[in-house]
Amino acid sequence: MERYRGARWHSPQLEHVSKHSHGTRRRYALVSPANANGLQESTRLVVPIGALYTPLKDRPDGQLLQYEPVTCKQTCRAILNPFCQVDVRSRTWTCPFCLQRNQLPPHYKDISQEQIPPELHPSNTTVEYRLARPAPAPPIFLYVVDLCQDADSLKALKESLVMSLGLLPPYALVGLITFGMMDYTPKQVQEMLGLSGSMARPANMAPQPGRPAGPTGPSSRFLLPVSQCEEQLTSTLEQLQKDPWGVPNDKRSSRCTGVALNIAVSLLEVSFQNAGARIMLFAGGPATIGSGMVVSPELKEPIRSHHDIDRDSVKYYKKALKVGGTMVTHCQAYVFQFYDTLAKRSAHNGHVIDIFVGCLDQVGLLEMKGLPNSTGGNMVLTDSFTSSMYKQSFVRIFDKDANDNLVMGFNASLEVLTTKELKITGLIGHAVSMNKKSASVGETECGIGNTCSWKMCGIDRPRAMASISRPPVKLDLLRPLLAKCKRG
Ligand SMILES: [Zn+2]
Repeated sequence: MERYRGARWHSPQLEHVSKHSHGTRRRYALVSPANANGLQESTRLVVPIGALYTPLKDRPDGQLLQYEPVTCKQTCRAILNPFCQVDVRSRTWTCPFCLQRNQLPPHYKDISQEQIPPELHPSNTTVEYRLARPAPAPPIFLYVVDLCQDADSLKALKESLVMSLGLLPPYALVGLITFGMMDYTPKQVQEMLGLSGSMARPANMAPQPGRPAGPTGPSSRFLLPVSQCEEQLTSTLEQLQKDPWGVPNDKRSSRCTGVALNIAVSLLEVSFQNAGARIMLFAGGPATIGSGMVVSPELKEPIRSHHDIDRDSVKYYKKALKVGGTMVTHCQAYVFQFYDTLAKRSAHNGHVIDIFVGCLDQVGLLEMKGLPNSTGGNMVLTDSFTSSMYKQSFVRIFDKDANDNLVMGFNASLEVLTTKELKITGLIGHAVSMNKKSASVGETECGIGNTCSWKMCGIDRPRAMASISRPPVKLDLLRPLLAKCKRG
């Protein structure tokens, strides 16, 4: 997207997009080739049209409506907006996407040309609705802490975790997993912890009015509301010690990061599917044993370097990306598959995975990058947990708004509707496809395409999503541009 920003636009509609997509006052930009000129121009466009959307953006002058939106009764489910044609006499409105005429709801009976509801006001091209539905479950924060690290770094990490407990809402559920040398398969550990029972979401997850439901099922033993366990968890965190297993001079620490992450994902998968949750990994080095091992514990075997990645010469790297669902025996290929599968599982469950690294050397972020990428997590790479970059980045995750609510959203979905002049080619951002087909979806794919709906496990303020559409122009004109876009 960046590379299109500097392009010289020839169309007034595109200038509109360009201006608003940079703007801080609009969430998204609109292209409305509603008249004959616009339609003609749209067919002449050779660059894809993009819209940037920043969820949770602070808009002091924005409209926050405390009622349900009026939607189109057709399958398109478009929401009543200033671009809809409203006939105040017959109390009907025409959906600009499917051209269906809809009746306005009874409580809109008093509208007139002079008196229109806020969502129809021409200046309100973006409005927010706050619905009176309770959150299905409290937010969950699961800390996954690597104990194989320097005493100083571990001490600083412990302090930041204790501090974070005070930033969480008292009803948030919190849990702690520590790891070091643990040589069990994920299945063995799940069985030991009694987590291998039913994967179904318990029926009694229905919340009490005004209050999210508490934990249920076997995993409830490992997650408790902050208000109930803050003291005990603080004391547990303060007593954490460096992994007791000695490390010979010619070896790396034995660290089963992959197994620990698998446990965290399984723990939440059992009872908290589609509840808002963050798994926060704090790694002090690369995974060296068990599933997800990035490099062997032998120091004489070097981890693949930046240079190797640059030249695409990582042993089995390409092959690993091509193997798809087929199991391959080599460790490197298996590692990519392992983390990719974990990322998909977590994204499917609706849970975010953040990775914080306090290590001078590489830890295998290349292999693990799918975890935050697919789930909307953060990736913070620092030399040590004593660094101020880590501390500042970590605390910003718990930023609060003017009403003392965390600026953090879980399990968001984004749906893009277009008029027939435009087709969606894809979305660039930390999302997964929900594989929803509609007349808006184009044949060309750029970013995450072939769908008009995407899921984001986590959203927060600094993020923006780019949705790309294109007018139905000749494909051969578009091809070089799309190729460029893919590389970018
Ligand atoms: Zn419609």
